[in-house]
Amino acid sequence: MATNVAVSVRLLAWWWAEVVTVTEQQDGYDVVVIGGGAAGLNGALMLARARRSVLVIDAGTPRNAPAEGVHGLLARDGMPPGELLELGRAEVRGYGGEVLAGEVEAVTGAADGFVVTLTDDRAYRARRLLVTTGLVDELPEIPGLSARWGRDLVHCPYCHGWEVRDQAIGVLATGPMAVHQALLFRQLSSDVVFFAHTAAPPVGEAAEQLAARGIRAVPGEVAGLVVTDDRLTGVRLSDGTVVARTALAVQPTMVARAGFLDGIGLRAVAHPSGLGVHLPVDATGRTEVAGVWAAGNVTDPAAQVGNAAAAGAFAAAQLNADLVGADTRAAVAAYRRAIEDPFSARMEARVAELVAGEHRHGL
Ligand SMILES: Cc1cc2nc3c(=O)[nH]c(=O)nc-3n(C[C@H](O)[C@H](O)[C@H](O)COP(=O)(O)OP(=O)(O)OC[C@H]3O[C@@H](n4cnc5c(N)ncnc54)[C@H](O)[C@@H]3O)c2cc1C
Repeated sequence: MATNVAVSVRLLAWWWAEVVTVTEQQDGYDVVVIGGGAAGLNGALMLARARRSVLVIDAGTPRNAPAEGVHGLLARDGMPPGELLELGRAEVRGYGGEVLAGEVEAVTGAADGFVVTLTDDRAYRARRLLVTTGLVDELPEIPGLSARWGRDLVHCPYCHGWEVRDQAIGVLATGPMAVHQALLFRQLSSDVVFFAHTAAPPVGEAAEQLAARGIRAVPGEVAGLVVTDDRLTGVRLSDGTVVARTALAVQPTMVARAGFLDGIGLRAVAHPSGLGVHLPVDATGRTEVAGVWAAGNVTDPAAQVGNAAAAGAFAAAQLNADLVGADTRAAVAAYRRAIEDPFSARMEARVAELVAGEHRHGL
């Protein structure tokens, strides 16, 4: 009798493992990753390698699309952004992950039953979500600025600072970090001009720092750029004065792309830096909505490609651990139920099938 019970329990455990696997495959994806930039693809790579069913939905508008190359990324320095992502998509697909072109319009449901709907009405179900949709850089409303973005209108000394080294650089004050940004670009060129634009010229410690580093502060609103043969040659003030510059640094307002999460009560809020809005997460990448993780620029506006990719990978590992926990809890509960009734009709039929195979009759 005791032997029969042990055999039944072992068989039950084996049968249940099969059922769990099939159920997962039929019940949408373990994880839908919304956004296929560095953060989303690295997250998906981790999940696919962890044998999770994963779908990446990507609208194809990575933040650094205007840039010629990705800089500051070890072993990939200077690689065109599109090429990096193409390699990433191939790696994800190599492990069975799926990557789909499309734009997510809305998310509804809750953990274990999210529904992700695209603008073309396609819909996908997921147990968990990884949001990696990045951000939009909102530039100051000065004519001609957007056409120069990522070329000679720059924002990040680590992304394009080397490329504009020793040039005549302007820094357009648009936010609380303007003086800091001017000091960072001073590391790259001895010819830096600070345009106060709509703000009052710096005073006190800030003014002293600029003066000490040889950065000239120019008062007056910036009205436009002077472009010659498709290259920036000057910055025009509203009084008509032109200050010769070949590169201009600006601090855009960085706005997380997260409007499609309204349906699950997740909204972007002001970032503590004052630089824009973001989705807050805890140290593991978990948002305040159960089952939803976020990584990359959508939560950390300062993240570069390497940081975004690392955050996506880290959040994916946390997310997989969460799923492992949920799977284990479900398996234990089912296992306990089965042990309480090891001689149910279903178990008896399964045991007979295994013992007698095709020779069984009337079982
Ligand atoms: C001009 C410029 C140059 C830069 N140069 C560098 C550099 O040299 N080195 C460096 O390390 N960093 C650089 N950066 C920063 C870099 O762009 C970011 O670190 C990186 O893009 C962040 O990756 P991410 O995956 O978080 O977001 P993204 O790369 O922006 O990817 C987000 C993806 O989500 C998609 N998406 C958005 N909304 C939806 C939706 N609703 N449905 C489906 N998909 C959606 C987008 O289409 C996009 O493909 C630069 C940034 C700019 C603006």
